[in-house]
Amino acid sequence: MESIGQARQRLRCLPRTELGFYPTPLHRLERVSEVCDVEVYMKREDFSGMTLFGGNKIRKLEYLLGQARADGCDTVVTYGATQSNHAMETAAAARRCGMTPVLYLAALVEPSPEDLRANLLLDTILGAEVHLVPVEPGQTMDEALERARPEVLARIAELEAAGHPVCDLPGGGSNEVGVCGFADAFLETMEQMEHLGGAPDYLFTAAGTGGTLAGLAAGQALLGSGVKLVGVQVSPKDRAAYAREIAGLANRALGRMGAPETVRPDGFTLLGDYYAPGYEKPSPAANQDIRWLARTEGLFADPVYSGKCFHGMIEEIRGGRVPSGSRVLFLHTGGAVALFSEPEIIGDLNRP
Ligand SMILES: *Cc1c(COP(=O)(O)O)cnc(C)c1O
Repeated sequence: MESIGQARQRLRCLPRTELGFYPTPLHRLERVSEVCDVEVYMKREDFSGMTLFGGNKIRKLEYLLGQARADGCDTVVTYGATQSNHAMETAAAARRCGMTPVLYLAALVEPSPEDLRANLLLDTILGAEVHLVPVEPGQTMDEALERARPEVLARIAELEAAGHPVCDLPGGGSNEVGVCGFADAFLETMEQMEHLGGAPDYLFTAAGTGGTLAGLAAGQALLGSGVKLVGVQVSPKDRAAYAREIAGLANRALGRMGAPETVRPDGFTLLGDYYAPGYEKPSPAANQDIRWLARTEGLFADPVYSGKCFHGMIEEIRGGRVPSGSRVLFLHTGGAVALFSEPEIIGDLNRP
């Protein structure tokens, strides 16, 4: 168990490049709190910068591209769906660092070349080298990207032979380097909550690749904090295997920081009931809560990540699984660009 200052000192020793505007804001949701009879706070990672279209990937990229720079790379390769926030944020951050972005994007939703939208439009403006990877019926995004692996390795070899050292970043930026960004975010959040009357009882975040949750769990382990971490899954995954994967990521990040603490797979909760019908597929129930948040607080959540997480959190509160009077923190991870993506992604949000 360490103080925030001691924990921060560990992070300061790691290579990092400044991209976002931190600390991100944290505030109480007055009207949601009143209706729900719990104290609801929101941590605004959607306000991370570095562009208007920031989100949770920027903190990871500060560590990832800091390391890439230290390694002498001038090209960044990464992966996602065609509307990946991570891919777009990586492309923008790479440009800021004077590096060339190369993206392999699985076409879960087939983009229309005459009507490029949302993140794929931004990737195009950023001049990223975009490779669209087809997804066969019945195939997952990860399977499609795995099948494209030989092609990716050939392109990386070609770039390196041409004198461009490549930094190969996993989907979501979720490795032990990127995850350190959310250990940092946990420290920042706990400090802000102290000024708002004390630590939260619960902290909810969307869980995709799991790097955000892993980083928060690492930060929690550093401080020995008692907050209950809850990850709302945005895709179907075997819960036990996923928990081990997240704990493993957290522990590798703690190792990188030289910290003696560890995270156990039961050190956080995963909720697997709110992603339906699937990743990047809209949920009518979550969309209903996206409207409710907008109409109650004037705030936007997206249909792929933050909306499903907000819906999951509110359902847990409605169902009494979060006791009344609790202090609950919602980590808004960003992603609103998806509101301007294909109809297959937004579902019924275009109806009143
Ligand atoms: C990537 C992403 C997440 C999930 O974060 P992971 O670290 O991959 O679990 C949540 N919300 C938004 C908006 C994202 O882009």
